[in-house]
Amino acid sequence: MGAINGKEYINRIDQLQTEIWLDGKRITGKISEHPAFKGMIQTKASLYELQHNPLFQDKLTFPSPESGNPVGLSYLQPRTKDELIKRREMMEIWARHTHGLLGRSPDYMNSALMAFASSAKSLNNKENSFPENIESLYKRAREYDLSFTHTFITPQVNRSQFYFENSKEPIAARMVGQNENGIIIKGARLLATQGGLTDEVLVFFTGGETDERNAFAFSLPSDTPGLKFICRESFVGGESSFNYPLSSHYEEMDTILVFDHVLVPWERVFFYNNIDAADMFMLQSSFHSFAFHQVITRQIVKTEFILGIAELLVDTINVSGYPHIQEKLSEMIIGLETMRALLAKSEEGAKADESGIFRPSTIPLQVASNVYPRIYPRFVEIIQLIGASGMVSLPSEKDFASSIRGDLDQYLQAASRNAEDRVKIFRLAWDLTMSPFGTRQTQYERYFFGDPIRLSSFLYQSYPKEKYRDLATDFLKLNP
Ligand SMILES: Cc1cc2nc3c(=O)[nH]c(=O)nc-3n(C[C@H](O)[C@H](O)[C@H](O)COP(=O)(O)OP(=O)(O)OC[C@H]3O[C@@H](n4cnc5c(N)ncnc54)[C@H](O)[C@@H]3O)c2cc1C
Repeated sequence: MGAINGKEYINRIDQLQTEIWLDGKRITGKISEHPAFKGMIQTKASLYELQHNPLFQDKLTFPSPESGNPVGLSYLQPRTKDELIKRREMMEIWARHTHGLLGRSPDYMNSALMAFASSAKSLNNKENSFPENIESLYKRAREYDLSFTHTFITPQVNRSQFYFENSKEPIAARMVGQNENGIIIKGARLLATQGGLTDEVLVFFTGGETDERNAFAFSLPSDTPGLKFICRESFVGGESSFNYPLSSHYEEMDTILVFDHVLVPWERVFFYNNIDAADMFMLQSSFHSFAFHQVITRQIVKTEFILGIAELLVDTINVSGYPHIQEKLSEMIIGLETMRALLAKSEEGAKADESGIFRPSTIPLQVASNVYPRIYPRFVEIIQLIGASGMVSLPSEKDFASSIRGDLDQYLQAASRNAEDRVKIFRLAWDLTMSPFGTRQTQYERYFFGDPIRLSSFLYQSYPKEKYRDLATDFLKLNP
């Protein structure tokens, strides 16, 4: 089969009839026609469509080592630096197509799965571990261009250090049994972005817990019996691209995943009941390197777009002459160039791992993933500070089509734009930073890859600090 097109993605998702709940109702009919999902599904379909566009085909696909068919390039296991760079160029094309606003463009999870499969051998001969199932899922995903959501965390019940869930009825999804067909899971997991809008869901134990019953990893088709996706409220403001330029195309939805005695067939289990193997796998696999590589590439493209919006605002109301405005725009430029430099350094320092896979250097990517959750909310604030009342003086598309148009044209004109263009620009800035969609984007960039506080602890713990301590030790001539 190989790389799919947009129509194939939509047909597959419609046919699944996954159990998705929104606002008290189970969704029936074609998910691709539902107002909460259709914009994002169309956007995602347009990414798959690019794989068949003669202008991009060579940059977005590569010949499958198995079938020879063109398959998605985010599945490529890079064995040279050139291949690593080809991967990044592929991710840039998809990110540019969505201005970096689709957090879960399919290359994110494809890269994660590629990385897990590349490191699967480290689970060889470990108790209750089936590395061959990760490899076969990877191959199937690559050949059929499957899309994935994922859930890596447990429900936010009690995050104190010493909490151990002991309720009889599981809250966090746990293994409640096993039989000749597989393991049985009951409970909930958070937080599957695009849950129900992908072919499969990847469930992974990412460490930090002591309950063996939670230490499992597997992948299941989204329509598996007993699996339920519970949506938050939709942040699609409406269908009008004029009124809601971003949410009408990019609202991804986040879901709580509930397992009601779900049977995970043995051939889909990666590991279970083995905390040591699970912890080791998460730390040693190339998951962080390749997932961060995709994330930082997307965030750079998003920052270029945000800088463009800020500059458009400045130009529209002619405030570029003020030093504090220049300083604010410089802050954005510094953020953008810092992220670019870190990405370049990660590629520069890439090395082949024990499986011959060319991993980007992790430390610069870890630094970037600590920088962005801090600078993104500041970018949002800068746009709000530049836009001021313009961020709320926002008549709608219908206002411009009504008899008050003359008033709008006169009173909402701007230094360099007519009223309609000015409102379009400010609506874009509002949807990025103040609408429910925009506010969720901020929360997403803060948290989607984990708690920024714990990400910085991880950086501190993994950073080689000894040689710097030695410098100070030598200076003072202390005993080592
Ligand atoms: C928009 C959005 C989309 C997401 N999409 C996905 C997805 O698709 N798949 C997925 O698996 N996850 C997803 N996530 C979840 C994300 O992985 C988590 O938000 C992140 O790991 C933090 O966990 P938490 O939200 O449970 O916060 P908590 O762990 O509950 O933290 C709450 C507060 O307590 C503090 N805290 C808690 N524990 C500690 C500790 N041990 N040490 C220090 N401080 C602590 C935190 O710093 C924070 O201030 C998404 C999150 C968001 C916001």
